[in-house]
Amino acid sequence: MNLCDFVPENIRLIQPYQPGKPISELAREIGLEASTIIKLASNENPLGVSPLALDAMISAMQNVALYPDGSGFELKAALSSHYDIKSEQIILGNGSNDVLDLVARIFLKPGASAVYSQHAFAVYPLVIQITGAHGIQVPARDYGHDLPAMLDAIKPETRMVFIANPNNPTGTISNNDDLYRFIGRVSRDVLIILDEAYYEYLPEINRANSIQWLKEFPNLIVTRTFSKIYGLAGARVGFAIAHPDVADLMNRVRQPFNVSSVGLAGALAALNDSEFVQKSYALNRAGMLQLTDGFRKLNIEFIPSVGNFISFRIEGNATNIPKVYQSLLHQGIIIRPLGIYEMPHHLRVTIGLASENERFLHALEYALGELV
Ligand SMILES: *Cc1c(COP(=O)(O)O)cnc(C)c1O
Repeated sequence: MNLCDFVPENIRLIQPYQPGKPISELAREIGLEASTIIKLASNENPLGVSPLALDAMISAMQNVALYPDGSGFELKAALSSHYDIKSEQIILGNGSNDVLDLVARIFLKPGASAVYSQHAFAVYPLVIQITGAHGIQVPARDYGHDLPAMLDAIKPETRMVFIANPNNPTGTISNNDDLYRFIGRVSRDVLIILDEAYYEYLPEINRANSIQWLKEFPNLIVTRTFSKIYGLAGARVGFAIAHPDVADLMNRVRQPFNVSSVGLAGALAALNDSEFVQKSYALNRAGMLQLTDGFRKLNIEFIPSVGNFISFRIEGNATNIPKVYQSLLHQGIIIRPLGIYEMPHHLRVTIGLASENERFLHALEYALGELV
């Protein structure tokens, strides 16, 4: 159709984000009962939703005829006391993807550029491309962010740097001191977007003092989400914390009702369900040990991860990857191949329940047996 030819090339060349395969789709494709399929493909919480959040969302459903509170007053008030920040510093989003997109749309334009790491979260190049700005991908070091190289990659026209800490899909993390030094060296007219989607899964020693740093660095934006440890991926709630001037711009540009009333209610309750967060954290630590032990027994190399997922390598020809992925699908297990992340020899699995991890390891052993 001709009118599509008027669309700028940066839009026409976009490759859509590829999400993990939904359970319902695999059930249709291979004729398996949906309840027998396990999805370890999207870093969702294997415990499901926090019971307090579920109750709050069910109640909120009674009022879905009404528009949500577009300012998110109550959730922002709760976040501001939880993190000891001002409400004026918070931007709520329809997932943190929404705030990543917002920040790119506001601060980038054709002629500008943004820096991110090789193997980093696939949403960064996508939101950069939508604006017509130029993405500068910096080669990774040991699968993690090479902060000195990222600093060197910043050009006069660069307006932002994305840092995923920890990074998805590699599970790598930059240490607190290195990150602090990096932020201090970035020019104040370049935004640093510190994506901490997995912060609550981090062991204490890996947690950066990022929210304190906001006082010192007006060009820092921290993003967090309710999709991961809080178990609300389907409700779509995330947020950014920034300097009030930056937050003000973002709040002017965002859609007036970008978080649903059900999402707001769920997030507010989940934030206060510390028992659920602790349980999820402990389950994840144990599951990580279970999987790394299993990988060692199968002689599989993995990238040590601090997230709720881990990426591992299948030796031999890269065609082994689709074979293992397909074999697992046929055994009712969905994980994630990492070709689009320039990691054609790796697969990523989300830490599940102990029984799911065990089923995954058995299925993987079987899939590896089929290769030889
Ligand atoms: C999952 C994830 C997010 C969060 O996405 P939501 O839109 O909040 O669901 C953000 N960044 C990274 C690196 C992630 O893996």
